[in-house]
Amino acid sequence: MSNDTSHPHAFQAEVRQLLDIVINSLYTDREIFLRELVSNASDALEKLRHHKLTGDSVTDADLPLEITITTDEAERTITIADSGIGMTRDELVQNLGTIAHSGTKAFLQSLEAGASAAGNVIGKFGVGFYSVFMVAEKVEVFTRSWQPDSEALCWTSDGRTGYSIDAAPGQSRGSRIVIRLREEHADFARKWQAQELLKRYSNFVPFPILLDGDRVNTVEALWLKNRNEVTDEQYSEFYKFIAHAWDEPRYRLHFNADAPLVINSLVFVPQENPEPWGMGQSEPGVALYCRRVLIDAHPKGLLPEWLRFLRGVIDSDDLPLNISRETMQDSALVQKLGDVITKRFLKFLDGEAKSDPDKYRDFYAQFSRFIKEGIVTDQKHREALARLLRFESSMTDAGTLTSLDEYLTRQKDGQDVIYFLQAPSRSAIENGPYLEAFKTRGLEVIYFTEPVDEYIASSLKDYSGKNLVAADADNLELPDAPEPEGESLSTADSEAFCQWMQETLGDGVKEVVVSKRLSDSPVVALLPDEARMGPQMRAMLRTMKQEAPAPKVRLEINPRHLLIRRLFQARSSRPEAAQLLAGQLLDTALLSAGLVEDPRSLVQRVHKVMATALE
Ligand code: ADP
Repeated sequence: MSNDTSHPHAFQAEVRQLLDIVINSLYTDREIFLRELVSNASDALEKLRHHKLTGDSVTDADLPLEITITTDEAERTITIADSGIGMTRDELVQNLGTIAHSGTKAFLQSLEAGASAAGNVIGKFGVGFYSVFMVAEKVEVFTRSWQPDSEALCWTSDGRTGYSIDAAPGQSRGSRIVIRLREEHADFARKWQAQELLKRYSNFVPFPILLDGDRVNTVEALWLKNRNEVTDEQYSEFYKFIAHAWDEPRYRLHFNADAPLVINSLVFVPQENPEPWGMGQSEPGVALYCRRVLIDAHPKGLLPEWLRFLRGVIDSDDLPLNISRETMQDSALVQKLGDVITKRFLKFLDGEAKSDPDKYRDFYAQFSRFIKEGIVTDQKHREALARLLRFESSMTDAGTLTSLDEYLTRQKDGQDVIYFLQAPSRSAIENGPYLEAFKTRGLEVIYFTEPVDEYIASSLKDYSGKNLVAADADNLELPDAPEPEGESLSTADSEAFCQWMQETLGDGVKEVVVSKRLSDSPVVALLPDEARMGPQMRAMLRTMKQEAPAPKVRLEINPRHLLIRRLFQARSSRPEAAQLLAGQLLDTALLSAGLVEDPRSLVQRVHKVMATALE
């Protein structure tokens, strides 16, 4: 990078795109720019405090850690200054000329994903520094980095095509952002206007904010206070501050403990799922503090990954201040801390689910994916997570959910397993051949209908000491059911029929036997346990270019079914048609089992069957 004084730089294309949206959108909440800049100032101060506490030598070491805001109505400017870490020349280019940080990326992604009015999402994402161009015609960032021998610089831009960086002698450590307002936004240069905004959005900034010389915020660490000293409004304000959020929190858990670890934590569940389109993993949102000092705003490895939707603070006196982000992940103490909070939070959710099931159902509708992800990835908390699962079942109405605990209360005497079936929908399960046997015996079956549920079935082997068992497994020992009424093939005929089917289908099946489970369907295909694999896993194997072994099923036939009885006759009267239909029966059974990967041969056979029917 050259050191000539004035040096024009062009914005990265994405920044230009973003600025274009920011400047031209008919967004009404332009005031958020102030919150964004104050929160940047606060972050810069947190980082500086951390450097000081860990013994780094910093420029202008005696400057007080505070944010000073000045307004000038005549000049139409508002200036936000902090004594934080400041920026070097390279950092200016990196931070204020490109897009690297998650918030803005998510914002752009959401626009690509078709979020309609840009204005509505600006607020939600907080596009950070660039939001200043919603109100500014010119912005100057005077800055000097905390690092020894750093340059004093001034970054200037009108937010259109680019910016320049010049020397700025006299600037002390930190950043001073001078905003020259556009005429129509001159109001932000009025003191009362700024004061109102700061009170509303920045009350919890942990450093003093001085507006034209007057102190505006009360600095307090809410999480260190007693629960009964904090009002709902304060909690909600604090949530909005720490999560950069605009919504009201859905749940909050304020938890203080003295032993075995000193922990003060305050965590929130947001109103909305931060990964609504299921794409892009958001960063962890619970910050780690040690005695009010921020260690890491997005600590990886503190909480399990599936808890990344939580927002808030965990503060512990027991952490060493100089713990680095790298050593943090390996620290037994940090893990212990995360574990305590995770357990506490799981218990809290379970309590909430019981005390206000409607509210919990709402939460579950938005956040169940995280819980299910936890079941698969977090063995340590699997059982507690499983308690939070909710499913439809053969004993619930459509749309009504039940828990595994409730399932257990409805178990039949002597039933020592939990049955489940997996298919894309409730109706697919109820119209398939697998449920009949359970219905006639009064056994409840849980419905796994989401793609992720397939992984649950393979991760969650048991719950409360009872195995989870697939109701379409071939080796189930079901209690006897009452003998159904109506005509049936005799035992000898049934056996002869099975043998004929077996010969006709040859290698296509493992065996053909008389079913004890069927009442309404003619046949059912059952997979041996070791070949069990859902459609998701098969698809995954395929993308890995590994062939899933062609499953050989056990075909069970229903000797009472009209189709089977007719087919038994047709073996000798119309042998060709009978053979065709035997193959077709196997294919439809495989179809119900979700095992038909290539429908072509099935389609061809259907055409032949149709032709035969018209003979
Ligand atoms: P975000 O704060 O979400 O990272 P911003 O666009 O608000 O995104 O800021 C981009 C980056 O610029 C910040 O991450 C920070 O590194 C730097 N920055 C912004 N304001 C300041 C400031 N007052 N002091 C030091 N660095 C700053």
